[in-house]
Amino acid sequence: MFIEPSIGKKSQHEKKGHIEVICGSMFSGKTEELIRRLNRALIARQKVEIFKPSIDKRYHEFDVVSHNESAIRSTPVNFADDIILLAGDCDVVGIDEVQFFDQQIIHVAAVLANSGKRVIMAGLDMDFEGKPFDPMPQLLAIAEYVTKVHAICMKCGDLASYSFRLSDAKEKVMVGEKESYEARCRKCFLEDKK
Ligand SMILES: [Zn+2]
Repeated sequence: MFIEPSIGKKSQHEKKGHIEVICGSMFSGKTEELIRRLNRALIARQKVEIFKPSIDKRYHEFDVVSHNESAIRSTPVNFADDIILLAGDCDVVGIDEVQFFDQQIIHVAAVLANSGKRVIMAGLDMDFEGKPFDPMPQLLAIAEYVTKVHAICMKCGDLASYSFRLSDAKEKVMVGEKESYEARCRKCFLEDKK
C-alpha cells in the first residue's frame, strides 16, 4: 500500500511538491485509491482540491464518485489549464480520469508540483485496444511515485490489467458504464479481441 512520503502542515519554505500517478484498467480501484489518499490528506488538515474533465458526466456533476460510492466533491473543468487557476493556495491537487485531458495536462502537473503542491492523478493507462492512453505514458514518466492497481479478470479470475469493450463501438473515448466493459487478463483480452 502507498504510504505518503511526507504529510501535514509545512511552512512555505519547507514545501516540496511532487507528482503521484495511480493507473490501471477499469474496475481496478483507481478512484478508490485516489479518494483514500485525499481523505488522509484531509485528516492531516491539508487543503485539498479535486478536479476531473467535464467529459465524464456518468455520475454527479460535482463528485468524484467511484464504483463503490465513496465520494468527494470535485470540480469539472473543460481545459487542463483551468486547474492552475482554480487550485489556488491548496496543498494537494487530486485529478480523476486524467486520461481524458489533452497533452497540456503534462505541463499543468509539472507547474503545480514545481510550485510546492502534491499532485495525485488517477487514470486509465490503456485504451480498449490495449494501447497506451495518451497522455498517461508521459505523466507516468514525470511522476515521482507510480502505483499500478489491478482488477480481477471477469472471465478467468486472474489479475486483470486490460479494459475489454463488449460493444463494437470504435471511438476511443466512450465513457464507460459497467455493462459496456469487462476487466480482462492479457490472455482473455486477446482471445476475444475484435
Ligand atoms: Zn482471464
